[in-house]
Amino acid sequence: MNGVSEAPKPSRLVVLAGPTAVGKGTVAAQMRAANPDVWISVSATTRPPRPGEVDGVHYLFVSDEEFDRMVEQAELLEWAVVHKAARYGTPRRPVEEALAAGRPAMLEIDLQGARQVRRTMPEALFVFLAPPSFEELERRLVGRGTETEEERTRRLETAREELAAESEFDVTIVNHEVPAAVDELVTLIRSGS
Ligand code: 5GP
Repeated sequence: MNGVSEAPKPSRLVVLAGPTAVGKGTVAAQMRAANPDVWISVSATTRPPRPGEVDGVHYLFVSDEEFDRMVEQAELLEWAVVHKAARYGTPRRPVEEALAAGRPAMLEIDLQGARQVRRTMPEALFVFLAPPSFEELERRLVGRGTETEEERTRRLETAREELAAESEFDVTIVNHEVPAAVDELVTLIRSGS
């Protein structure tokens, strides 16, 4: 015993992306509920909260000015305008702290953000959550009922482009059933830490 405490082995970051309405949020939430030791990033966004969303839990809801400041001060690991509607970004420091502490860590972000992280943290594991089919994705987007017709059309256009990006990812999980997708995700997260 030399009295020097060993620093924890840094963990590997898992980046979960996939088209709109594929169920990323649901999969991430259920994964978190069953695996409280896994750290999931809370994104900053300029979009207003939906009913039931809590500031600091689901997102950090910030003003345009505050988002500008975060970008200028390089506080975001990545950020993007999503669905031509609002800005979303990952605060950098909490990610670095979780990884340094050896905590299994995950980001749930859009494709543009995943591409940015790929450039700055190529050692991360990039996981694509895919729908069973485009028709199923459309059905889920309509069923969610939280968007206007115009917004839905825009999101479906984005989804088509996003589906084509699957080959850029290290692994694909097909979201047939949420519990099975969560199991696959947890296995990947645990294998990397
Ligand atoms: P929603 O507004 O429905 O919560 O999320 C819209 C989209 O923004 C989802 O595709 C989600 O993955 C993405 N998103 C959430 N947080 C971030 C983030 O920090 N960065 C990026 N690039 N996308 C994000």
